[in-house]
Amino acid sequence: MCGIVGYIGPREAYPIIVEGLKRLEYRGYDSAGIALFDGKDLKVSKTKGKVADLETRSEKEITKYGSVGIGHTRWATHGVPNDVNSHPHISNSGELVIIHNGIIENYESLKKELISRGYTFKSDTDTEVLINLIEDVKKQENVKLGKAVQIALNQVVGAYAIAVFDKNKPEEIVIARLGSPLAIGVGEDEFFIASDASPFLEYTKNAIYLEDEEMAIIRFHKGIKIRKIKDDSLVDPYIQKLQINLEQIEKGGFDHFMLKEIHEQPKAITDTYRGRLLRHEAIIKMAGIEDNMKKFLNADRIIIVACGTSWHAGLVAEYIFEDLARVPVEVEYASEFRYRNPIITEKDVLIAISQSGETADTLAAIKLAKSKGAFVFGVCNVVGSSIARETHAGAYTHAGPEIGVASTKAFTTQITVLTLIALRLARAKGTISSSDFRHHLLELEMIPKKVEEALKSDKHIQKISETYKDTSNFLYLGRGYNFPVALEGALKLKEISYIHAEGYPAAEMKHGPIALIDENMPIVVIATKKGHYEKVVSNIQEIKSRKGKIIGIVTEGDVQVKELADHVIEVPETLESLSPLLTTIPLQLLSYHIAVMLGKNVDQPRNLAKSVTVE
Ligand code: GLU
Repeated sequence: MCGIVGYIGPREAYPIIVEGLKRLEYRGYDSAGIALFDGKDLKVSKTKGKVADLETRSEKEITKYGSVGIGHTRWATHGVPNDVNSHPHISNSGELVIIHNGIIENYESLKKELISRGYTFKSDTDTEVLINLIEDVKKQENVKLGKAVQIALNQVVGAYAIAVFDKNKPEEIVIARLGSPLAIGVGEDEFFIASDASPFLEYTKNAIYLEDEEMAIIRFHKGIKIRKIKDDSLVDPYIQKLQINLEQIEKGGFDHFMLKEIHEQPKAITDTYRGRLLRHEAIIKMAGIEDNMKKFLNADRIIIVACGTSWHAGLVAEYIFEDLARVPVEVEYASEFRYRNPIITEKDVLIAISQSGETADTLAAIKLAKSKGAFVFGVCNVVGSSIARETHAGAYTHAGPEIGVASTKAFTTQITVLTLIALRLARAKGTISSSDFRHHLLELEMIPKKVEEALKSDKHIQKISETYKDTSNFLYLGRGYNFPVALEGALKLKEISYIHAEGYPAAEMKHGPIALIDENMPIVVIATKKGHYEKVVSNIQEIKSRKGKIIGIVTEGDVQVKELADHVIEVPETLESLSPLLTTIPLQLLSYHIAVMLGKNVDQPRNLAKSVTVE
């Protein structure tokens, strides 16, 4: 996982690459680097740290001129984050330069072979092996760079998005992808290369998304040639018009992307159900479902695979699907599912959830399910992503770009899409009455307004955050639909504040975690009116008897929990099945404020990357 940017054209490449890397920093940020051809020679500057550190360093190190260049922001997989392991990497001859997103799995055997032929290595990365392999092929076979890249990639096992150029032939950049995304921005006689379109949005709206196992040779003045890496066949470039604009990927007055994205949820949820939830006609219309209704209706079960926050959305969906559509559901971590020889049949429907649509384990789980004949449906946010392409059908969340590494609006819009699907199936199966169905549509339509209400507790939550910011542990408890929300709340806090937090089903507390409770332990309890309220109140009593500090997430107007809890945060009333869309909001804000107060880097928490494109 990392960010890649490249440029070839008449402009100065440096500012385009550096600004582009800043936009891609969410993808990886432990080191950054740039390689430019200044008309005479190759100039490389790279450093451990952020893109801002690269700017300071390159200021002293290189002349920033040149209209061909590539840049990288790294998320280390092989070798610690340090200056030497940072990309770009240069081949032994000093002629070829590469940036790489992904993992070369067989790098060790390739490296041994290259060492036996006299190659030396400065870094611990798999990437430096690849660039030397390309160089070796180029020399041995006496071929041009494009061909050498192709032959080398056919010897490689793993995942990659790469950009390579030769300082002796700087009018061309060779790129390729397998498993990691890569887009080409097509301008007037200029080309941009990037992991996603954000670095070139202000220059061009024309983009080509490279498919897996494709490579492209991009030549100044001459255009692009795309080929299949395996069989060398030519591919017709398909140029898409991008729909996103610059404002969507900027902070818009908020201090952090995460806060902006939390506040965008009313709009994001509306965008998700727009055109799908037709309340006046009392129907839900989703092309991916309508076209494949038989598959869903004949399914013995639904298997949901996902990772991280998306897995929590999957857990919420399990409650909704079983409750409303009466279909058995299993929710699996994609990484476990794919490696445990699971039983999958042609009568299974697999739903894969991923914000980026690039999550490596989820993608592998999809391929496995397809090979066993299951019908695979994707729920992702990024249009045209690998998962969107790899699945038989799917539904986008339409949340807009999510840049903060801690997922917020992706979670609530995933739940929205999954709720729409469950309701649609329930209607088709007749497991929901028509009045209940209408009631759900009405309530779902009102959720964005209610999220706006919930967001008004921001200042109050800020005060609560102040009280607990220095604690080292947190517990989150919820029942039923709100058990996954407790898990998600704990994950948010861990991710961005580095405070240890655990989520539990409230009733499980007695089977272990209650031993942790004393006067220093804050416990966030989701105790909304319709979710086994009385039982949760009893759990709160149990915490109180052990002097734990209680932060209750309650329904507006609640009296009982208010009397017991140290703090309460109110959310508007809704159906139990929709309550996660509201109870999540205060938990997002709580983790956000605590992290800000602790001085943490909210949008780019340590060790994390936005989409995990490695296993
Ligand atoms: N495997 C490469 C490295 O560790 C690339 C990692 C990335 O995608 O940033 O340097």
